[in-house]
Amino acid sequence: MAERFHLEHASTGDIFRRAVAEGSPLGREVEEYLDAGKLVPDELTSRVVEQMVVAQTTDYILDGYPRTLQQGRDLEEMLRRRSQQLDVAVYFDLSDELAFERLTGRRVCTECGANYHVKFMPPEKDGVCDRCGAELEVRSDSAEDVVRERLKQFREKTYPLVAFYEERGLLERVAAAPAPGEVARATEQVMLRARPQ
Ligand SMILES: [Zn+2]
Repeated sequence: MAERFHLEHASTGDIFRRAVAEGSPLGREVEEYLDAGKLVPDELTSRVVEQMVVAQTTDYILDGYPRTLQQGRDLEEMLRRRSQQLDVAVYFDLSDELAFERLTGRRVCTECGANYHVKFMPPEKDGVCDRCGAELEVRSDSAEDVVRERLKQFREKTYPLVAFYEERGLLERVAAAPAPGEVARATEQVMLRARPQ
């Protein structure tokens, strides 16, 4: 979508890594949390997004931000200060059951890093990488208890943003259950409405 609409793809993970690599004061703050394996607080996350993205360009897709109601309010405030507004907030709607199945089924090659899914993108031979023949393992973020906790966090912390953007008339829902190509086409339609080319 970023390519299709000539937008910068700004994922929070990439932005954090870039800030740390630059060694800026902000990057050093972020680094302390990442090194300690702690979640970067809302307030600091918002400052990084503002400095690295919102202050730099007006054409971007934010990926992984906002993730909490507080971050949603922070974003609204930083855009308001610049007399800007979001075009659209896209919500990929997926049942907990399907999200659980998709996330826990992911497998990664221990050698070359290739990704698989036991049901949706299985390797030719069970547990073995098609590309290099090495063993596949469960990704560290795909263990069942980890996924259960992520889904719980999503319901509690992120889901309230759906109502937040609905109230502002910015929310578009895309059904995420269909195949990837279909989800991509639906997303494109939603973005075309918000940002006619
Ligand atoms: Zn491999």
